[in-house]
Amino acid sequence: MKHLSPFIQKLIDEFDKLPGIGPKTSARLVFNLLHRKEDIRSFSDALNNAYQNVHFCPECYNLTDDGLCTICNNPQRNKKMICIVSSNQDVEAVEKTNEFEGVYHLLNGLLSPLEGITPDKLKIKELETRIKDNGVKEIILALDQSMEGEATTIYLSKLLGQYDVKLSQLARGIPMGANIEYTDEVTLGSALKNRKQL
Ligand SMILES: [Zn+2]
Repeated sequence: MKHLSPFIQKLIDEFDKLPGIGPKTSARLVFNLLHRKEDIRSFSDALNNAYQNVHFCPECYNLTDDGLCTICNNPQRNKKMICIVSSNQDVEAVEKTNEFEGVYHLLNGLLSPLEGITPDKLKIKELETRIKDNGVKEIILALDQSMEGEATTIYLSKLLGQYDVKLSQLARGIPMGANIEYTDEVTLGSALKNRKQL
């Protein structure tokens, strides 16, 4: 869209970088926002505030605006039990089941060699440090039943086999190809309860 103001084009390009938003949707969102001056101000403030205040929890890599995230900070949570997930949405999905009293470790992605996502791009070294330093007793792999999720589960089960921890993965029951974040809480809760030892 060559005739557009570079300010508008820049904004469209930024929206276009978000997952699931193509150039058309991104243009639609930007034009819509630009017609509502008040909203664009509060949108920009919200982004700026999130940028200034939100960071990764140094323990689990969840997002937080405090030192540790609310889950790691909660003395009721069992720190010896770690549920490995790929994203923030997955933490929310598992929390909704009310079946998990341990803490999380977010990989912030899944292995995908084709897209250049190799083990060093995920928070795997940090996970190993955590296992060694905190006397972790049990690890549950709660990753998507996608090709990337399976590859990551296989990689981690081999890697973590060297540690003296009880290792399990979610029971089948989550449909093949399904993302954790879109699995309903009853199905996910029962997959968690009936987790399969590796
Ligand atoms: Zn945390």
